[in-house]
Amino acid sequence: MFFNTIAQIIVTQPDLKMNIEEPKKPLNFIEEIIEKDLKNKKHNGKILTRFPPEPNGYLHIGHAKSICLNFGMAQKYGGKCNLRFDDTNPVKEDVEYVDSIKEDIHWLGFDWEDREFYASDYFNQLYEWAKLLIKKGVAYVDDHSADEVSATRGTPTLPGQESPFRKRSVEENLDLFEKMKNGDFPDGTKVLRAKIDMASPNMHMRDPVMYRIKHASHHRTGDVWCIYPMYDFAHGQSDFIEGITHSLCTLEFEVHRPLYDWFLDHIIDSPEVNRSRTHQFEFARLNLNYTVMSKRLLLQLVRDGHVNGWDDPRMPTISGLRRRGFTPEAIRDFADRVGVAKRENVIDVDFLEHCLREDLNKRAHRIMGVLNPLKVVIENYPEGETDELEAINNPEDDTMGTRNVPFSKVLYIEQEDFMEDPPKKFFRLAPGREVRLRYAYFITCKEVIKDKEGNISEIICTYDPASRGGNSPDGRKVKGTLHWVSAQHAVKAEVRLYDRLFVKEDPYEYKEGENFLSNLNPESLKTTEGYIEPSVKSAQPGDKFQFERLGYFCVDPDSTPDKLVINRTVTLKDSWAKMTNKS
Ligand code: ATP
Ligand code: MG
Repeated sequence: MFFNTIAQIIVTQPDLKMNIEEPKKPLNFIEEIIEKDLKNKKHNGKILTRFPPEPNGYLHIGHAKSICLNFGMAQKYGGKCNLRFDDTNPVKEDVEYVDSIKEDIHWLGFDWEDREFYASDYFNQLYEWAKLLIKKGVAYVDDHSADEVSATRGTPTLPGQESPFRKRSVEENLDLFEKMKNGDFPDGTKVLRAKIDMASPNMHMRDPVMYRIKHASHHRTGDVWCIYPMYDFAHGQSDFIEGITHSLCTLEFEVHRPLYDWFLDHIIDSPEVNRSRTHQFEFARLNLNYTVMSKRLLLQLVRDGHVNGWDDPRMPTISGLRRRGFTPEAIRDFADRVGVAKRENVIDVDFLEHCLREDLNKRAHRIMGVLNPLKVVIENYPEGETDELEAINNPEDDTMGTRNVPFSKVLYIEQEDFMEDPPKKFFRLAPGREVRLRYAYFITCKEVIKDKEGNISEIICTYDPASRGGNSPDGRKVKGTLHWVSAQHAVKAEVRLYDRLFVKEDPYEYKEGENFLSNLNPESLKTTEGYIEPSVKSAQPGDKFQFERLGYFCVDPDSTPDKLVINRTVTLKDSWAKMTNKS
């Protein structure tokens, strides 16, 4: 399935790009629905959405899209958005996840005010409603385990088998359900099921499980409960309790919608309430190439040590992107520009990076840093002297001002910027050649020094004092402009160069007998020692800058007062912009 959709997006990409680049977008289908409902005063003109994460992992970029949509619709139409933890499975859930989810939503720039809810807050009410359904004769206790229930559900083309326990009396069901709640039965010995239709073409309507027994401590309700409602029995009812007007979720829940409605039909008796009750709308989930987004797989990457935690900068998690140097503005812009679709698609990760570059280009300070240093000695520069040269902080924005960068006799430039025997099109430094050092001087290479093995260890240059500021003194031209740092002033830093976590566009495409892990990119993290201009000394974790000619970088929280750790966020090469300009 996933492979097909990847193939499709490659085919449909030009269209997609056109959509994304459109200056003014028409309303998406959710906005159309909301505007129509507002016009018809459907919910008395009220809009209330919710973001319903299950606290069983950290949020990822797909969730960010859902957050931007739910909070965004509320903002746009003068409504509110609730945060609701869908905490119905104590075995997989944890407070660590609750805390990280709240931090991530706030960081993205959204706030739920005092509307922080938990499905577990509604356990009593849900239990009462389950009893109501038993009394109405539409729910029964089945002595099978959840696994046995799914084994007898049939197939999409064959009807399921009715359970022998389906005919239990209301009294017996009420009694057994209470005993389930009181802890009289071990895990897996009974479930509560809705009595719907074992021959329904929709598998979700074949007497779905409403409650299962789990003798497990819940992070909020402790040991009060040993039966827990299933997602389907909790979600719609939670929406209903909170008065959600538009329950937005991803496409895979479309087939659950009849059940969502069935439960509400059976618990709501008042036609008055029924008229304005909540409705579920489905949109296509966000998929990105070169990554996986299922929390189960992300958890596996973390647990098995393929990455260094949920916030590893290679992860598609919000915390990973934050640590990588992404800004909330760029993520919101991305979510907005990919839009809301009704059909599955796969978005190019280059486009996510493009949105980030656009944002950082406007806001990030330019500084100079050298990642693969080559020593340059300026022969005619006085020993022990320092020159302070003025450098522009951001050529896109004058208000960001200037700073001074020290220049001295010994400098570092990038190894790649020098060639002893350059090909024709190489315009950087070479023996006898003159280039400009950004904001500093013209220098000319006089001599190449090598070590015993024949490797270049340093180069000797002269500088032209009349070219101060990097300006030509007499109109003579140089073809190359290089970044550099003064060796004596530079700050040493550990620089982590990140690349894609997977080598394949579709990590789910693997050979028989292998799994998605075989597509991990063995070179997704390389570490090097860089030399950065001294203005970086005051930088704090999270600070972002462009290293001229190299990319965008940010300070990692692993930094200490003695050791600066820098992450490369993205290089400057914008494959997305390049591709779209060409087409
Ligand atoms: P996963 O499938 O990645 O494990 P999930 O759907 O189980 O995620 P939830 O915590 O249940 O994760 O999701 C909370 C909300 O975020 C749901 O409304 C869900 O539909 C939405 N959501 C999850 N993944 C995506 C995605 N890739 N794109 C858009 N919305 C998403
Ligand atoms: Mg889920």
